[in-house]
Amino acid sequence: MNHRFLLLCAAAACLLLPACKGNESASADSDGLAAFSADSLGKHIAQLSHDSLTGRKPFSEGETKTINYLEKQFVAAGLEPGNGNSYFQPVPMVRITTQADPQMEVAAGDKTFSLEGFEDYVIWTDRTDSSLSLKNTELVFAGYGVVAPEYNWNDYAGLDVKGKVVLILVNDPGFNAKDTSLFKGKAMTYYGRWTYKFEEAGRQGAKGCLIIHNTEAASYPFTVVQNNWNGSRLRLDNRGKQESLCDMIGWVSGAAAKRLLEAAGKDSTLLATADKRGFKGSPLGLSLSVNMRVKAEYNQSHNVIGKITGSKYPDETIIYTAHWDHLGIGKPDETGDSIYNGALDNASATAGLIELARAFKSLQTKPERTIVFLSVTAEEQGLWGSAYYAQNPIYPAAKTLANINMDGLNYYGKTKDLIVVGRGQNDLEDYLQEEAKKVNREIAFEEKPEAGSYYRSDHFNFAKVGIPALYTSSGVKVEGKDSGTGKSIQDDYTAKHYHRPSDEYDASKWVLTGAIEDLKLLFQVGKRLAFADKWPEWKTGSEFKAIREKK
Ligand SMILES: [Zn+2]
Repeated sequence: MNHRFLLLCAAAACLLLPACKGNESASADSDGLAAFSADSLGKHIAQLSHDSLTGRKPFSEGETKTINYLEKQFVAAGLEPGNGNSYFQPVPMVRITTQADPQMEVAAGDKTFSLEGFEDYVIWTDRTDSSLSLKNTELVFAGYGVVAPEYNWNDYAGLDVKGKVVLILVNDPGFNAKDTSLFKGKAMTYYGRWTYKFEEAGRQGAKGCLIIHNTEAASYPFTVVQNNWNGSRLRLDNRGKQESLCDMIGWVSGAAAKRLLEAAGKDSTLLATADKRGFKGSPLGLSLSVNMRVKAEYNQSHNVIGKITGSKYPDETIIYTAHWDHLGIGKPDETGDSIYNGALDNASATAGLIELARAFKSLQTKPERTIVFLSVTAEEQGLWGSAYYAQNPIYPAAKTLANINMDGLNYYGKTKDLIVVGRGQNDLEDYLQEEAKKVNREIAFEEKPEAGSYYRSDHFNFAKVGIPALYTSSGVKVEGKDSGTGKSIQDDYTAKHYHRPSDEYDASKWVLTGAIEDLKLLFQVGKRLAFADKWPEWKTGSEFKAIREKK
């Protein structure tokens, strides 16, 4: 929108509104902001995290109650149904339960030894065949298991891995090399995530993929990996789409990897060769044998979706997302509470989505593009609701300008800053910065980009299909408090309440004024997109730029 037009509007509005004061004038800039209410936000958080919703687990009675509540609120906010005449998008899923042998046999020439399940290796599958086996299957070292044309890097070049197991390193070549010109240096790229590595190994025709665990490079200890031992995992119903999936995927511990290398007559210097350009993978002269039984159960969960149709470009969309699901009822904590309420994670941002809907609906100047409000399911078990939407879009990706995702709002008062997760990805961070400046706030960036947080929430599935995505987390510079306050509140939450029954809403303690200010900024970014002449783009160097340009 052009600047002169804005000024004229502001002047006209001043004439009409007697209460209007000088530079705080009711301009297009403030259109919609009055709709935000901390009270209303708090009420929705209280409802969504209430014990009666039993922790909002997909397929449970808690799901039915949650999605019905959201539908009701979307209707009340004046949203139109987002999927034809329905507010729901069914998400077909499968629960895959695996039972692997307690030992894996390793053969090195005529010598054999075994690795212990859980201690040394953790394996599972995304396939639904009732039994899967490795039988003397060759093991091949494939570096980081990365094919990244934009970095001119291919760990699989000239390497035959068909029907074999690849052994690969976690993170990407930039991490260990301490070379800022390799990939993104210490910051993790998409290629560093284990999900990518399993997918790529499958595309290369490998039968199995084992990642070598390293606490620093993975950003979590092996105990986190061990949670996957012989358990159940949810994923999208993939019947008929399994041809490029490995039979077995998983991890080996650092110590087990050392034993494998020793048996192959190698040591960690082999691993270090993967950090250098021109690296070539090679067979290790080892073979593996192990069996796994698999049980598949099919079920359906739901995304909830509403929209406001654009006045000028109805087929162009901006999509706000927040996952509604949480962990349900589980292991009781020390107080005997077994309901994982997920008040912060993610009743808070789901409630925020309702506030955003009310604000967009209240605009005096109706948005020119369609605004979509999408509350996705099954984030906690692998970002599945957003993955399903991205793979089965109701609004085509090529006509979607942006995704703005929220997971956990601020509950400790106003902050000067708002943290952008995934620095330098796309233009949306610049738009956010400009909006922040206007209200004397600032953006900052996540402390540990090497943890790959940009690839660990729902917006990532939008990025993967080329849609510029923005993901923020709460600021730490709390107004009127010591500089360490925000950080220590966040650390305290992570240590004591994250994914525990005590992630509960307390109206007497939660201060939602900061959440409202953050929502307003995300609203302003979306509003700007709803009227913009120019679409946001991925920045040079982003691994998602080429995907967008193909569309
Ligand atoms: Zn979450």
